[in-house]
Amino acid sequence: MQFIDLAAQYQYLKEKIDARIQAVLDHGQYIMGPEVEELESKLSEYVGVKNTVSCANGTDALTLALMVLDVKQGDAVFCPTFTFFATAEAIAFEGATPIFVDSNKDTFNICPQDLEKRIQHVINEGKLRPKAIIAVDLFGLPANYPALRKIADKYDLKIIEDAAQGFGGEINGKRAGSFGDISTTSFFPAKPLGCYGDGGAVFTDNDEFAELLISYRVHGKGKDKYDNVRIGMNSRLDTIQAAILLEKLEAFPSELKARNKVAQHYNEELSNLYNIPTIPRNYLSSWAQYTLQVDDRDQVMAEFKAKGVPTMIYYGTCMHQQTAFRHLNYTDEDFPVATKLSDTVLSLPMHPYLDVKYN
Ligand SMILES: *Cc1c(COP(=O)(O)O)cnc(C)c1O
Repeated sequence: MQFIDLAAQYQYLKEKIDARIQAVLDHGQYIMGPEVEELESKLSEYVGVKNTVSCANGTDALTLALMVLDVKQGDAVFCPTFTFFATAEAIAFEGATPIFVDSNKDTFNICPQDLEKRIQHVINEGKLRPKAIIAVDLFGLPANYPALRKIADKYDLKIIEDAAQGFGGEINGKRAGSFGDISTTSFFPAKPLGCYGDGGAVFTDNDEFAELLISYRVHGKGKDKYDNVRIGMNSRLDTIQAAILLEKLEAFPSELKARNKVAQHYNEELSNLYNIPTIPRNYLSSWAQYTLQVDDRDQVMAEFKAKGVPTMIYYGTCMHQQTAFRHLNYTDEDFPVATKLSDTVLSLPMHPYLDVKYN
């Protein structure tokens, strides 16, 4: 059994994907070919936003979002400590200071109460300008945006939604990628919507933001790429990856249902043995991961292994524990929930082509 079986998905979609790739080889517009624009417009429609700007990967998508918000040295950007490194890395990459926030013990997502405490602390210290919040839709579950939006409004902060894992998730029928002032996703192969290499996208309803994103992703271009009006980057989605994503997006709604079926099956089989994931009412997860909390993790992982079931730990190291952020001087006591999660979580195989009958 595979943890994520991308080959099974390819077998299922092979004819369509092969034809899409061949079409790109035939027209030869490898950079910013017609598939890129077609994909951006289909993504906007699916996510429910006015603008989608594709880019080279999910980390660049975060960097582009921070550039648009003019995040720089002296700014504080709040993000969960229990996340993938890129969330916090992008903040530090812009020269700003990441302020880590503890997690909710049930959803694993950023804790709004702890967030507000940390915002007040930064204000009282008076050293940094609070600028933005990066909320992460961890393991596919959208963060608590109703609560986060209230806090953002109260302290005049922008929200960036890191939907790298959350693409396809919903709150009250509204889709992930539409909750931030700017939202980002990743098309890394193992994400809910993945391509066959690196890829990413930024979503926003704000037309001025979209215009800036289009400029920043191609060397800060003005009229064209040889008219450079600001310092940008080179971060485009390859046409071939856009072509692959067009077919994968077509299959995505049924894959999302299949992921939820797998999760439902796991819930039924495992709820009397383990602490299973919590999905709040009116939320839908895209199940980037199916994650249990267990106190005797080594033993449980060994038991699954003996049954031929691979498991993974996402994440065994919080941001406040990372060597690269040691200078920020946090301790585990600052983040009791996240620290416990990093010691107790384990993820089971999850993909839409998993045959749950064999579990
Ligand atoms: C994967 C991931 C990213 C980065 O995406 P890449 O495409 O690998 O650069 C950012 N944030 C989160 C939460 C992720 O899971």
